[in-house]
Amino acid sequence: MHNDLDRPDSPASPDLFSLPVQPDRLATVDAWIFDLDNTLYSAASTLFPAIERRMTAYIARDFNLTLEEARRCQKRLFREYGTTLRGLMVEHAIDPLAFLEYVHTIDLSAIVPDSVLDRALGRLPGRKIVFTNGSQAHAERVLARLGIADHFEAIQDIIASDFLPKPDPRPYVRLLHRCGIDPVRACMVEDMAGNLVPAAALGMVTVWLRTDAAWAQPVNGDTTHIHHVVDDLARWLEGVAGPAVAELTMPAPLDDAAAG
Ligand SMILES: [Mg+2]
Repeated sequence: MHNDLDRPDSPASPDLFSLPVQPDRLATVDAWIFDLDNTLYSAASTLFPAIERRMTAYIARDFNLTLEEARRCQKRLFREYGTTLRGLMVEHAIDPLAFLEYVHTIDLSAIVPDSVLDRALGRLPGRKIVFTNGSQAHAERVLARLGIADHFEAIQDIIASDFLPKPDPRPYVRLLHRCGIDPVRACMVEDMAGNLVPAAALGMVTVWLRTDAAWAQPVNGDTTHIHHVVDDLARWLEGVAGPAVAELTMPAPLDDAAAG
C-alpha cells in the first residue's frame, strides 16, 4: 500500500541516495539543555579557575595539605571520579553541601551581562534548562550576572542529580522525566565533549562548544556523539533561531545615548 508520508517533499525525481540520512533535527528541537560553567559564559573567563582554586583550598584546609599537594589530590579525584566533589564524597564522605557553598563563594564581577546571548536565547524557540554539576545557587547567581536568567524554566544541579555528576547517564534520565522532555526533540550544549555521550545515546542532538582545555576534549578522540561543533554559542544560536539574524546583529544607533 502506498504511503504518502514516505514520499520526499521535492517534486524532482527522487534519488533516495542523495537525500540526507536525517533531516536537520535542530528545526524540531523543543527543549534546549545547557551546561553552565564555560558554556553560558566564556571558557576564557577567570571564573572557573577561581572555583578550582577554591576546591584546592578546601582540600588543603580539610586534609592539612600544602596547596601543591591539594592540587595534585584534586586533579586525581577529578580524573578518577569525573568531579572533585564526587571523589571527595566517595573517598572521604565529606559534606557535599558545605563543599558546594565553599567552592562557589567567589567574586563574580568577571561575569558581565551578555546582551548578544540574551537576544539569541530570546529568539530561540523552545524551553531552556540548565544542567550543571555545580549548585543551583551558583547557577542562579551566574545567570543573573549574565542577564539571561529569565530564559530558563528549570535548573538541574548536582543536588537534584542526587550527587551523580555528568556524564553518569542517570541524571540525564532524571532530567528528562522531571521536565517531561522527549529526548529526540532535545538538544544539549556542553563544553566537555564527554558529557555529550549519554545525551547522544538517549537520542538528543548534541552541540560541543569547542575549547582548548585537555580535559574537555572528546574522550579517546571519539567524536561520533558530537553532532555540531561550535566556537561562538550566541552567534550559532542566532543562526539556528532564524533568518532575522542580520537585522539583529546590526549595531545600535550611535545616537541612542543622546536620545535617552
Ligand atoms: Mg562546563
